[in-house]
Amino acid sequence: MFPLLKTGGLADVAGALPLALQQAGADVRVLLPGFAPVLADLEHAVLVADVVSPWGSTSHLRFGRLRSSGLPAYVLDAPHYYQREGSPYEDAKRRAHADNHRRFALLGWVGAKLSHGLDKTWQPNIVHSHDWHAALTPAYASFAGAAGAAPVQVYTIHNLAYQGLFSRAQFVELGLPAKAFAIQGLEFHDQMSFMKAGLFYADHLTTVSPSYAQEIQTPEQGCGLDGLLRERSACLTGILNGVDETVWDPAQDPAIVATYHAQRPQGKTRCKAALQARMGLAVQPNALLFGIVSRLTEQKGLQLVLSAVDDLLAWGGQLVVLGSGDPALEQAWRQLAIDHPGAVAVHVGYDEDLAHQVFAGTDVTLVPSRFEPCGLTQMYGLKYGSLPLVHRVGGLADTVEDCSLENLDSGRANGFVFHPFQVNALRRAIERAFALYKRSAQWRAVRSGAMRQPLGWEAAASQYMALYRSLLAK
Ligand code: ADP
Repeated sequence: MFPLLKTGGLADVAGALPLALQQAGADVRVLLPGFAPVLADLEHAVLVADVVSPWGSTSHLRFGRLRSSGLPAYVLDAPHYYQREGSPYEDAKRRAHADNHRRFALLGWVGAKLSHGLDKTWQPNIVHSHDWHAALTPAYASFAGAAGAAPVQVYTIHNLAYQGLFSRAQFVELGLPAKAFAIQGLEFHDQMSFMKAGLFYADHLTTVSPSYAQEIQTPEQGCGLDGLLRERSACLTGILNGVDETVWDPAQDPAIVATYHAQRPQGKTRCKAALQARMGLAVQPNALLFGIVSRLTEQKGLQLVLSAVDDLLAWGGQLVVLGSGDPALEQAWRQLAIDHPGAVAVHVGYDEDLAHQVFAGTDVTLVPSRFEPCGLTQMYGLKYGSLPLVHRVGGLADTVEDCSLENLDSGRANGFVFHPFQVNALRRAIERAFALYKRSAQWRAVRSGAMRQPLGWEAAASQYMALYRSLLAK
């Protein structure tokens, strides 16, 4: 949950959605694993219960208020699981923790306990779990067999490609009934899939864009779960994520050298010069500057950019990349910067402030993902007037309209879209970006429209609220 801990977009959503729901009138509480920054942020904590897991470990469930956001929060205080070096999933040498099945099953176990009255002072009527990490919540809840009205279980897929797969032997440790290890359950090719547990046992499913909700029902993008998703399509809804405008707003962003907004965009010129200088690029105001802020993984399609970059540079462009991930991709980008000093700059690592500076300083944000459940960086590009150039897929297709003549005419254009996922299609989209940039009045008009687009969380929150109400009315 941003700003406490973040490896990608899930943290941005977890940080913003509960607050947006609260503003829409919901009585929201969050449940989080007690990673060090989370526990340190919890104020006025009281012990709710000592919880014994099915495999016999004891942890403390605390309830308090998060200092950073004011949100009421349950935090699982289990130092033997959550107080470790490295990322939430891996050790400092990037190896997955051997007990990840227990670390995240515990979250689901406690989610299910809270569903069924663990806190005598507060009872949810909707329990909403996010991604494979929390996906055992509806599974444990469905086997809890508790008396009384059970809350509605909603489960959101943030990325179907990360499933939380574990062995049959690990399944046996988790205390679910043996019958759950079946096709009609959470079994997936003789493994246990946390993701499938969410998809199978939740009452309602959502995912983070309308296009992705359709795409995951096809064999191409279903990651082997498209059959189940087709069966459940009547209770699968796509709701587009929003932008946390308290964090991502060029008019009041402390991480950038000059603030700006659609009516007064001048500050963006200073941001561009500062970014070029910081990153060792030639400080040229008129060079079309492309930016990438991304995890470096196969999903993000950046191989395609490596294939098109010679043209981008030949046409006078510059490129700045901020990313980390796959070591081979990190190395490929480092090499590109060495080969093109002054024109390509690469920062391998994770840097929140620099991410803001890249969106503020660039003219175009590149998001050529092979698949993209929603994507947040193209929306940050829109907010910061860095026109997104995207592959037409998932949430990218739902948020970016190409600068075709008809879209320019109607005022819908806000970026550049290519399809199919091929280097020639990308190259032509890059060419369109240069063509529009030459028509500077038109460029400014499109950029201004992009920056004024409403992208906040209100729309998503009201759709979730309508969904919750309709589920409760059933
Ligand atoms: P995903 O969740 O697949 O990584 P999203 O576009 O939904 O993709 O969200 C990515 C989030 O992670 C954004 O907030 C983006 O700014 C941030 N991000 C990705 N890579 C980096 C990085 N190297 N440094 C800083 N922020 C990054």
